Amino acid sequence: MATYSDEGVVLRTMRLGEADRIVTLATPEHGKVRAVAKGIRKTKSRLSGRLEPLTHVSMMCWRGRELDVVSQVEAIEHFKAIRGDLERVPVAMTMLEVVDHVALERHPMPEMFRMLVGALRTLEERLSPALLGSFLWKLLVLEGVGPSIDQCAGCGSKGELVAFDAGEGGFLCRSCRRGQAVGAETVSLIQQVLSGGLRSALDQPPSRATAEAERLAMLATEYHLDRRVRSAHRGAEISTAGWQGWSSTSSSDTAHDVRAPGTGAEEEAGAGLPPLAS
Ligand SMILES: [Zn+2]
Repeated sequence: MATYSDEGVVLRTMRLGEADRIVTLATPEHGKVRAVAKGIRKTKSRLSGRLEPLTHVSMMCWRGRELDVVSQVEAIEHFKAIRGDLERVPVAMTMLEVVDHVALERHPMPEMFRMLVGALRTLEERLSPALLGSFLWKLLVLEGVGPSIDQCAGCGSKGELVAFDAGEGGFLCRSCRRGQAVGAETVSLIQQVLSGGLRSALDQPPSRATAEAERLAMLATEYHLDRRVRSAHRGAEISTAGWQGWSSTSSSDTAHDVRAPGTGAEEEAGAGLPPLAS
């Protein structure tokens, strides 16, 4: 069997049979990879602890017809500060979930991978109020569905932009306005993020603009994905239910769960982001 090696960030895991898991990873060279980690749920498995969601790994896989098989894996980064902070966990989970929806299997995505790892490193350092919104806006641009932000998406005028409508393709002037009303500071924050000013945007303190930029980014993302991003709406659940709240199977919103056809795999209960054992 052919083997390949790559880096990856674990997006999620699913149980497979008694001892195995299917691990979904974002990789730079192989796009989204779904691979079986054999025996990972046995206590003595050399794989365990290295293939939890969020972990950045280097790995080697055997290429399979349907699913690949993980043969070797080393953890590069565990992102322990994120895992230990209930405010940062939902931000990370939202990024992982969105990448999971956007990434294609076996389509290289070096830029998206770099963006994901960069955003996770920033989040590991601190919870910047502009981080999640900035990540989503930049991801939309990368996907070719970025918003019109320098001129009105309706009439092309360069005047003041006062509203946002994802269906119209971005921000709108006073005469074209529809959708959500938007503050001028929010527009300039998003302009800053999308025109090379990410670093200083990330230094901004929490404000109405950072909150609004994130809310609109989520609206635009869900519009383009044509689905609800579940992780983004789970904050309350996490703080009340702790890690147990991460059970995907207990969610009432299971219509979008992606299941491996014919493999008998099931989305893992509580598999969101368990604290690392080691
Ligand atoms: Zn207009």
